[in-house]
Amino acid sequence: MTTPAYDIAIVGAGTAGLPAAIIAARKGAKVVLIEAADKVGGTLHMSSGSFSSGGSAAQSAHGWSDSAARHYADCLKLSHGTANPAILQLWTQHAAAMTDWLHAEGVNIGENGPKLNPGHELYDVPRTFNMPGGAISSIAVLAAALEPLVTNGSVDLRLSTRMTDLLTDDSGAVCGIVADNAAGTSEIRAAKVALTTGGYSRNPELWNALHEGTVPHRVYTYPHSRGDGMAAAFKLGAVADHAQHFLPTYGATQDIDNPENFWIHSLTQPTLRPQWEISVTRDGDRFMAEDNPSPDARERALLGLPDQSFWVIYDARIKRDARPLMLWDEDKLQRAFAGSEDFQSAATIADLARACGMAPARLERTISEYNAGVSVNSDKFGRKHLPAQIAKAPFYAIRHFATSVVSWGGLVVSDRLEVLRADGSPIPGLYAGGEIMGMGVFGHTFLGGSTLSASLTFGTLLGEWLAPTDAGSQSLKGTRNAD
Ligand SMILES: Cc1cc2nc3c(=O)[nH]c(=O)nc-3n(C[C@H](O)[C@H](O)[C@H](O)COP(=O)(O)OP(=O)(O)OC[C@H]3O[C@@H](n4cnc5c(N)ncnc54)[C@H](O)[C@@H]3O)c2cc1C
Repeated sequence: MTTPAYDIAIVGAGTAGLPAAIIAARKGAKVVLIEAADKVGGTLHMSSGSFSSGGSAAQSAHGWSDSAARHYADCLKLSHGTANPAILQLWTQHAAAMTDWLHAEGVNIGENGPKLNPGHELYDVPRTFNMPGGAISSIAVLAAALEPLVTNGSVDLRLSTRMTDLLTDDSGAVCGIVADNAAGTSEIRAAKVALTTGGYSRNPELWNALHEGTVPHRVYTYPHSRGDGMAAAFKLGAVADHAQHFLPTYGATQDIDNPENFWIHSLTQPTLRPQWEISVTRDGDRFMAEDNPSPDARERALLGLPDQSFWVIYDARIKRDARPLMLWDEDKLQRAFAGSEDFQSAATIADLARACGMAPARLERTISEYNAGVSVNSDKFGRKHLPAQIAKAPFYAIRHFATSVVSWGGLVVSDRLEVLRADGSPIPGLYAGGEIMGMGVFGHTFLGGSTLSASLTFGTLLGEWLAPTDAGSQSLKGTRNAD
């Protein structure tokens, strides 16, 4: 048997892969870090940077009393009991240590401490940290931590190199990877392989297969989230689960300049931007109180609509008086109304309905019922914010869609992050952490700040656990303190 060149091959230098490589190398492991993109960071380049944990020193420094057990219980409740208990336990137990590690490394986790984030169902205590300017701000810090390890040879960082397959030995244990780059195809031998390749949202075939064709493929995610790690693991008998827990992000529009992308505007947070408009199905019927403060309720209402799409309707007065609905500038909006079928305006409601493919009488009835409710400050769906009727021409309609910023299904792993086969046995030598496990592992709900936090947390655990025990120098607790 040949000695592998590396202790660990980490595939994907993103949210989970970076901490995994840094920690494993600091513990004395010889690591090869493979990255398909020409830069490290992965989805950290796009992520809003909200991450949650219970019981960190950073949280208690702001006066909040919390614990991993309380975080676990709250998440299980918010998931309506549908989270995978073992993986939820694993994340919540280690998330606080990850938070304090990140802070100690120098990542700005927000000077004002954790918050209650209204974009998702509220936790029972402020435990969501927000990286100012988004998660992109953490990349420079993690890259700076990685750099001396690359320089001293502990980490062999290979950018623009895409893993295409896994290698196995005669016993069936994983013993390395196959990778492609500009120089060609190579085999890289390692004692253990950690898949931190992120989700599959940029792979429409895998998306449709895992969601059994029930979830239209509309995403706003990192282009390299192509499910490569999952595809390679499937060949060795790995299985996927939790795609059935899909919930959409509430309402996005297709980017007129890049149709592969969907933009999330202001509808997701009615508590921050009270909605003046109404939302109607493709047939022209309202379907919920548009200002329902529960993200979970709004997401579920959208999940039940045909094609998971709806139209947002407003008039000239709302256009003039309400805060902007869209994040696009005026020029882009004008181009959208001039050229996209998802953006319609008309002098009458009947004409607007025709332009949207609805029966005119149905949309007229919907709007006249809504206006009647506004006149007596009582809405039949229980909507509270009723600032203005929809009555002043011209009238506008913008089609919104369910979209996703994460992959919901993922590899089934053990509570030691071993990749499992259908019979529950681990594939020897193969580990995974991050979005490759699927956001749905945390249940049929959106737990605020869970995917970023869990990806970072499972990255730290992979680094801690996969480093050979006799190689040890520094553990997670042994890294430098920032404050
Ligand atoms: C717009 C947006 C906003 C978000 N906001 C939040 C938020 O505020 N809070 C939250 O909790 N979650 C958020 N998320 C989700 C969260 O950021 C991600 O789930 C998480 O960052 C994923 O981490 P990861 O390590 O699994 O994947 P990534 O960070 O994407 O890392 C995977 C890496 O693997 C590389 N790779 C892929 N395939 C290969 C291959 N074959 N060979 C080599 N390398 C490969 C990729 O290039 C990438 O660098 C957001 C996501 C998006 C898109």
